[in-house]
Amino acid sequence: MSITVPTQQLRRDIITKVRRAVVKLGSYVLTTPSWKLDRKVFVDITRSIAHLAQSRGIQSVIVTSGAVATGMGKLGFKERPRALAQEQAAAAVGQIGLMALYERLFARHGMNVGQMLLTHGDLRDRKRFLTIRDAMESLLELGVVPIINENDSVVVDEIKFGDNDYLSSLVTNVAQADLLIILTDIDGVYDKDPHAAPDARLIQLIQDVDTRIEQLAGAAHSTISRGGMASKIKAAKTAALFGVPTIIANGKQPGILLDIFSAKQVGTLILPKENKLTSRKHWIAFTLKPQGIIQVDAGAEAAMVGKGRSLLPSGIVGVKGTFGPGEAVSCCTSSGHEFARGITAYSSEDIEKIKGLKTSQIQNVLGRCPCPEVIHRDDLVILKDL
Ligand code: GLU
Repeated sequence: MSITVPTQQLRRDIITKVRRAVVKLGSYVLTTPSWKLDRKVFVDITRSIAHLAQSRGIQSVIVTSGAVATGMGKLGFKERPRALAQEQAAAAVGQIGLMALYERLFARHGMNVGQMLLTHGDLRDRKRFLTIRDAMESLLELGVVPIINENDSVVVDEIKFGDNDYLSSLVTNVAQADLLIILTDIDGVYDKDPHAAPDARLIQLIQDVDTRIEQLAGAAHSTISRGGMASKIKAAKTAALFGVPTIIANGKQPGILLDIFSAKQVGTLILPKENKLTSRKHWIAFTLKPQGIIQVDAGAEAAMVGKGRSLLPSGIVGVKGTFGPGEAVSCCTSSGHEFARGITAYSSEDIEKIKGLKTSQIQNVLGRCPCPEVIHRDDLVILKDL
């Protein structure tokens, strides 16, 4: 393809600016086919991260998988257990070995590691999110390598991230990183399924994650890791909206991190969006899970989307779900199309009473008027912009 030269230049421009990277390591990268920790990979990755820190001042935050996989190996499970409790047991056993190995190998380079096990509940509360962000900053300032995983042994469905690709894209915001590297067991994103088509070609550059790319990535799932290429693409799209580029590459390839930081043409580079969201708006759009729906009329939609206005009660035609003030909601047209997300100032019960009314009537109907808007524009993210 004729894009090779400009792509290379683009890589160099991006890579030379990186000061802090999130490095996500998948279960297949970190374990052997018999679900033991793959020591060679750990040695290579830890050596590279230490080298980048010590010779170029580049900080890394690791998002690690492999707890369930290596726990399964230790407990003699032949396949990923179906029962949640068994999966949690595997994670509890596996997580220790995982951290012990990271600790031992980073110590060879005089570096400490710090473990942070997160659940979705930890990040969806803004205060806790900010506390975790401060703790992360502190670890990095102290020269420690933060190592993150989902807290699988205690997590239940309602507070699950689901997969570590998604978690890693949220961590770019927590860590205020400027690059996301997703290391997996294939070389990157292909134009066809490389397992089925021998002529499949690696895509070196994705400028924008559109529907074509999403379909290409398919919905591949495996028995050990929770995401497939589709979840990696989704993570890259989420990071792009925080202004962060992503590189998806093969973590089994020795020296891969050093190749990436030498701007070699490895893996697939996904470019960031120019109109990036602020940390808070990114958190509203991607970390929060909407607890209900507010349906609005065409006039309100046009004002919110076209003019960046807040949502007032007069434009609301319906409300679905039960939620309290301060919770995340989806804003939909009456045909059900979701066009925005935001934090509501009123509960679903109150919105039911004030929908369609003028702001001046709120006081009469509810006996109080904490604020004129149902969703203030600062708490609103228009999805069409994304
Ligand atoms: N947190 C899981 C583990 O450590 C991995 C989740 C994933 O594969 O995305 O095993």
